[in-house]
Amino acid sequence: MFKLENIIRKNIIDLTPYSSAREEFKEEATILLDANENPFETALNRYPDPFQTALKQELSIIKRVETNQIFVGNGSDEAIDLLFRAFCEPGKDKSYVFPPTYGMYEVSAKINNIETVKINLKPDFQLPDKSDFIEKIDSAGLLFICSPNNPTGNTYPLNAINEIASAFSGLVIVDEAYIDFSSSESAISLLSELPNLVVLNTLSKAYGLAGLRLGMAFASKEVIAVLNKIKPPYNVNSISQIEGLKALKNTKKFLSQIDVLKSERNLLTKALSAIPSVIKVYPSEANFLLIEFDQSDKIFVSLKSKGIIVRNRTRDVKNCLRITVGTPQQNRILIKAIKEI
Ligand SMILES: *Cc1c(COP(=O)(O)O)cnc(C)c1O
Repeated sequence: MFKLENIIRKNIIDLTPYSSAREEFKEEATILLDANENPFETALNRYPDPFQTALKQELSIIKRVETNQIFVGNGSDEAIDLLFRAFCEPGKDKSYVFPPTYGMYEVSAKINNIETVKINLKPDFQLPDKSDFIEKIDSAGLLFICSPNNPTGNTYPLNAINEIASAFSGLVIVDEAYIDFSSSESAISLLSELPNLVVLNTLSKAYGLAGLRLGMAFASKEVIAVLNKIKPPYNVNSISQIEGLKALKNTKKFLSQIDVLKSERNLLTKALSAIPSVIKVYPSEANFLLIEFDQSDKIFVSLKSKGIIVRNRTRDVKNCLRITVGTPQQNRILIKAIKEI
């Protein structure tokens, strides 16, 4: 049974958070002399809003959650790290992942001295049956589900996620970094029934803002309150808040880019499948393809010599490369290059 008070680290329960100047004074003022800032205006001389109020208001409308159910961080990586620091006792609790998947979960676990238990996906990259692994998730901690999954590109049905979360006494983190490229419904719709669910989103992929470092976590207001308690006070800088808000308010450009990338994904799938050195192109709901070659290392090196860099995933999935969907022109060059090898 999940109970939030059972999984918060004791030192975090006892913590009195740092109280910043902007936290202690939130009203309008004519003269601000409380934060030791340089008073000469440059548009960046003031500390950023520690609560990212405007961003959260916009996200609340788009994602249909309350503003107190939103955490905004310096990339989703910050949310992942804070989740470990709040809800996993080092050397005791565990982290659970379904490989092949995003490597950052295990790295973040290691940094926090948390053991990672790996439960392999099925050969078709779907989640294993609950009965096959439920006894392995014997301790609380964090369980990561990446959907669409990096590097395999597939999504998992929400009822499978729901079943696992209902049986787990720790937090289930559903990483939806690529959800905007997918036709599947977001797990955000499960938040009202699952108190131990955290959904991660990012502006790094579909929104084309990887350089901005803006990631979001959606969860119950109780879980979000804990993350806010331990985050660095000014974790999202002013430029990121301003540019992030602009992007969220003007989604037209990104939506049309997503359409292009989805149709390019289909085009690439067809074109690559027809090349003899390609064994299999896995179906993808993300902006990348996992492709099995007869000799992936050879393809990787040859592409590199032509100035085309892809990701070699052969350690995770034998003979596979992960290739990001590029612009139509880049994709044509890629196809030609692979044909010529
Ligand atoms: C790219 C990616 C992210 C994004 O991380 P940010 O820190 O928000 O840039 C998160 N999860 C997965 C699985 C990714 O592939």
